[in-house]
Amino acid sequence: MALRLILLGVPGSGKGTQGRRLHEHYGVPQIATGEMLREAARNGSPLGIKAMELMDQGMLVPDEVVIGIVKQRIQESDATAGFILDGFPRTIPQAEALDGMLAERSTPLDRALYLSAPIDVITLRLTTRMECPVCHRAYNAVEMKPRTEGRCDDDGTQLVGRADDDMEKVKRRIEIYFEETDVLKGYYADSSRLSEVDANRHPAEVFEDLIAILEKDSGSSEGSTKQ
Ligand code: AMP
Repeated sequence: MALRLILLGVPGSGKGTQGRRLHEHYGVPQIATGEMLREAARNGSPLGIKAMELMDQGMLVPDEVVIGIVKQRIQESDATAGFILDGFPRTIPQAEALDGMLAERSTPLDRALYLSAPIDVITLRLTTRMECPVCHRAYNAVEMKPRTEGRCDDDGTQLVGRADDDMEKVKRRIEIYFEETDVLKGYYADSSRLSEVDANRHPAEVFEDLIAILEKDSGSSEGSTKQ
């Protein structure tokens, strides 16, 4: 069965962490637009460098840029069996463009998973967030501390902070989330594709809930002609 998912939630709600777990569980790629843009900037691409100027201020990158990136990425062969979109869509035009792309291929979205968490928890997670520069696994001082302080559990690399995780930029990103992205809950709820999960818990518990939702979906679609 193909699995096409999006993860919604305020920055810091755990989309990256849950996307990684879902990828490991289902084997479909995690497509994280923020990470793709940071990678493009690291590689010195003009598009990446331009995007990074906005990202560093906590602003959104223009819709046409991210839509183009996602359109190309979901056409790659590893995404034939599905994907987990992490950080896309972030605006209504992006959500509409995604529906358009998927309609063209007759491969509709299966579910939008919304990770909810209180803003004070989110702020603490983001301002203490550290990331492995090699495997991009994220840590924070709340419920995802590394086993050895400052080192990645998987490969021992020295963890680094993200440029857009200082208090002012975190505030800006949360504001933008409420201005531009929160409305997507309604967009997906209206088409009965939204499921909400309480993300103010240990990542393993959140993951269990996500799996339960997806298993239920796959049970109810048994015998259908889903691609
Ligand atoms: P993230 O890693 O998802 O927190 O994204 C980091 C930054 O990348 C965001 O603050 C935006 O500047 C940019 N970005 C990532 N995804 C999108 C998107 N779908 N639309 C616009 N900007 C994005």
